[in-house]
Amino acid sequence: STLTLPQMLERSAQRYPDRVATGFLGANTTYRELWQSAQKLALALQKMGVKPGDRVSVMLPNCPQFVTAFFGTLLAGAVVVNTSPLYVADELRHQLNDSGSETLIMLDTFYSRYAEIQDSVPVKRVIVTGIQDALPFPKNLLYPIKARREGTWVDVPASAHVLQYARLLKFQSPTPAPAPREPGDLALLQYTGGTTGTPKGAMLSHLNLMANAEQGRVWMTDLKDGQEVTLAAIPFFHVYGMTVAMNLSIMTGATMALVPNARDIKMVLSQIEASGATLFPGVPTLYNAINNHPDTAKHDLTSIRACISGSAPLLLETARKFREITGGANLVEGYGLTEASPITHTNPIFGQQREGSIGLPMPGVDSIVVGEDGEIVPVGEVGELWVAGPNIMLGYWQRPDATAETLREAYGKTWLLTGDMATMDEDGYFSIVDRKKDLILVGGHNVYPREVDEVLNAHPAVLEAAAVGLPDEYRGESVHAVVHLKPGMKATEAEIIAYCRQHLSAYKAPRSVEFRDEELPKTAAMKILRRQLAQEARETQ
Ligand code: ATP
Repeated sequence: STLTLPQMLERSAQRYPDRVATGFLGANTTYRELWQSAQKLALALQKMGVKPGDRVSVMLPNCPQFVTAFFGTLLAGAVVVNTSPLYVADELRHQLNDSGSETLIMLDTFYSRYAEIQDSVPVKRVIVTGIQDALPFPKNLLYPIKARREGTWVDVPASAHVLQYARLLKFQSPTPAPAPREPGDLALLQYTGGTTGTPKGAMLSHLNLMANAEQGRVWMTDLKDGQEVTLAAIPFFHVYGMTVAMNLSIMTGATMALVPNARDIKMVLSQIEASGATLFPGVPTLYNAINNHPDTAKHDLTSIRACISGSAPLLLETARKFREITGGANLVEGYGLTEASPITHTNPIFGQQREGSIGLPMPGVDSIVVGEDGEIVPVGEVGELWVAGPNIMLGYWQRPDATAETLREAYGKTWLLTGDMATMDEDGYFSIVDRKKDLILVGGHNVYPREVDEVLNAHPAVLEAAAVGLPDEYRGESVHAVVHLKPGMKATEAEIIAYCRQHLSAYKAPRSVEFRDEELPKTAAMKILRRQLAQEARETQ
């Protein structure tokens, strides 16, 4: 595709001007309105001195302002830096400094975290918005900027440094100066989840992001342009939600039913029903939470037709139950990573889906399984998964060493080394074995924790669980299980261990089990933080 992202929005605004682009807490915004507000914001940014290539950090949950901020920034020629609303002040400081962001667009509720660090970051201006800016009641634009500090709301005087989003858009015309951008230009800095160390900014171009949305569109062969409704609960500030819930929707003129917090299952359920959502991209923990929520039976979820699950292995039981409660929605597993914009593999939506497999490479993606010496391993053998295609990042922001370790020239292409161990079967279906870095070494044997997770999760009393390695004097490491039981269910350590022994070789079965009353810790993308669990277990060992 040769369009830039803002050109894609402009095209959808021309094709579907009156179609609802975003539905949010009862307020609808059409494609025409969305395009106009993006243009107004672009002009406002230009007037403030934002130049092509400048970085603009966006710290917002899923709400109409996110979409406007994203496209407005790109239209001004600047680069969006996705910023997780879950960041604590230190993480925010690191990212603002690393990206060199002079502009920050944020929700008022997060302001206090910025206020704590404002003297040690390069930010020159903060644009503050509140949820009320997205709602339809008549607005008094002179209301003070309220921000949350230490649990209470305080007035923040508007200044050259702190600006009010609603006022900015109100007094702007939708005529930004054209900022020439090429599809190959940088559009987004997306910091990696950080489950494996200091976050690095993956540089994704307009072309990378457009290619992945286009690959998704081609894969979803029966998408009806201008007719779909996407349940947009997974966060846009993570590249998976950005591509499959936002960009793919805009590309096809779909309505986005926005849910600001995917952990609010009651809201997810009522939004599905109220919007008649047809597409519901998600992650396994989200489908699992819906499957087990007491309110699920009270809602009609049968409008959902197709779901792609990414970011972590999808357990068969989760998929089966979800199909049942939606009356047969097609829920298929895909795989990807930030550095690939992110999807690289999916099970065919109307073809043969394979259990435990991430499916086939997306259209235009090349994929190989590589051994220690860079050789392609035979069918069925485990090696590192390498991928190539138009969706692969330009590199890491200001980290040439990390880039050189992750992108490699071989076999006539530039490959992304995924850090995941995988196999390919005779029909070209790929399966993820585990992350290279999560391997547990027990008495000289490799244990892939995901295999243990699978067994733990199949235990009837278990709601969620994760296996981690603990240092062990005799074996080097031993397997430890962290388990959160279903409400009202009971199980003992001995029972869980015995159950695992039935289904796994002895060295793979956990030697200790820890029960937690609360949900397991997760990243913003709702992925279980295995490394944090391992660290906590080590500390209490
Ligand atoms: P970091 O890379 O900083 O550790 P992260 O794990 O959140 O953080 P992402 O790019 O969000 O980084 O996630 C990509 C990883 O998620 C993949 O490398 C892979 O390990 C895992 N993953 C994604 N989809 C699947 C899947 N279907 N099955 C198994 N693993 C998956």
